[in-house]
Formats: sequence, C-alpha cells, structure tokens
Amino acid sequence: VLQYRDVQKLYGDFVALQGVSMEVKKQQVVCLIGPSGSGKSTLLRCTNALETIDGGEILFDGVRLPKDRTAIRKVRQRMGMVFQNFELFPHKTAIENVIMGPSTVLGLSDEASRDRAEALLKKVGLADKAKNYPANLSGGQQQRVAIARALAMEPEVMLFDEPTSALDPETIGEVLNVMKALADDGMTMIVVTHEMTFARRVADHVVVFERGEIIEQGPPKQIFEAPTTARTRDFLGHLG
Ligand code: ATP
Ligand code: MG
Repeated sequence: VLQYRDVQKLYGDFVALQGVSMEVKKQQVVCLIGPSGSGKSTLLRCTNALETIDGGEILFDGVRLPKDRTAIRKVRQRMGMVFQNFELFPHKTAIENVIMGPSTVLGLSDEASRDRAEALLKKVGLADKAKNYPANLSGGQQQRVAIARALAMEPEVMLFDEPTSALDPETIGEVLNVMKALADDGMTMIVVTHEMTFARRVADHVVVFERGEIIEQGPPKQIFEAPTTARTRDFLGHLG
C-alpha cells in the first residue's frame, strides 16, 4: 500500500529524515518506535502529505504522493489519522463528530451518515455514549470516538501517532483493544507507539528510528528478542 524509497525531510538545515526506505503491505500493522525526536511523527505527516518531502519518494498504491492541493486532499481522505490529543470538535457530540466526515466530505445522506456513525460507535464500544460531548467522556473514550471518526471515512490505511500517550493508564487498554480488533479485521495500519507489548503482539513489522534514520527493521520477534544492532538494544534497554 505504501512504499518509502530513500525518503529525506529537511527543516531548514536540520535533517529530520534521511535514507528512509520501508514498506507497508496491505493488511499489515507496522509499528514505528524510537526515541523522542527521531522522526516518527514526521514520517506520518509526510505520509499523509501534511509535509512535503525533500528527497526520495513515497508511493501510495504505486502512485507518488501528489503536490497539488486538490490531489493531496483526495489522498488524505483515503488515510485516517489519529493523534495523541484526539482533537474532537468540542461543541459536537460523539456521534456528531463521527457523522461529519461522511455527510460533509463524502456527501452521504443524513440517514446513511448516522447509520454508519452508530455502527462505528458500537464497534468501538461507545453506543451508549453517542450523545455525550467530548468533555463528558474519558480520554480513552474520546480517543475511541476519534478512531470511529477516522474509520467513518472508510480509509485504506490508518495512521496512529502515539494514540495512548496522553491517556490515563486505566484507559490505555481499551484503546489498544480497539486497535487490535481493527488489525484483526485486516485494516492496514502504521502505529507510532511506546507500547512495546502492543508492538510485540500486534505488529507484523517493526521499524526502529533514531535521529531521522531507520537503524533496524524486521518482524517483532527479531526486534524484541534478537535485535541485530547495539543501538536497538540500547533503546529497548532504556525502556526497562
Ligand atoms: P516524539 O517521540 O517526541 O513524538 P518523533 O520521533 O515523533 O518524537 P518528530 O516529531 O518527527 O519526532 O521530530 C523529528 C525532529 O524534527 C525533531 O528533532 C524535531 O525537533 C524536528 N522538527 C519537527 N517538526 C519540525 C518543524 N516544523 N520545524 C523544525 N523542526 C521540526
Ligand atoms: Mg512524535
């Protein structure tokens, strides 16, 4: 679905990504791990064209990411993005947050949008919270609404940027369970995470970043049980 070839991203003189080559195949879960500032979020932002790259190429379904705004908007619609801080519309209820995309962007009828939103809230375990405003939901519940909202656009790939980092420990599990279920359903996913148990159990492929470069990538078994580089061992070791 996604191919990265020698991707480079600069912020002025600062090299945020360099020589990044990796692949995300259909129905795979790829976890990106690595220290703070290593370029994980930058890679996600380049993937959905929130940022343009300065070298190499990113292919989405075999086609280079476009540069013009209209085409970028179309590509972005095919990717769901979930951030650390949910970013729900505070003045809209849970279900209204989910309905918005299908009704305004996809042009579905009110009824079809509502049906879709109800089904998705049920899927993330929040059928009974549809009328709550974000302020009256826990962090984990808000994040599950954000996931439902992204899914309402029927994306081909879901991008998660540390979806549980801002959550209270007791609500992390419910979000990870929803993500695991999504993976089991066959969703193609890129997940930036510090949840190594999740990466180990759910990922098909793990990519380790350091200072904008990939220092190692492979199946979770290799990365967690037999890392080939000392730097990967150091990084994993620091996590305890
Ligand atoms: P974290 O785990 O803390 O989220 P990360 O791996 O996601 O880290 P990025 O957010 O991708 O890291 O940032 C990579 C580097 O690029 C950092 O050193 C950061 O300071 C720099 N950077 C990110 N965005 C910009 C920007 N808009 N302008 C300049 N530098 C930036
Ligand atoms: Mg980040």
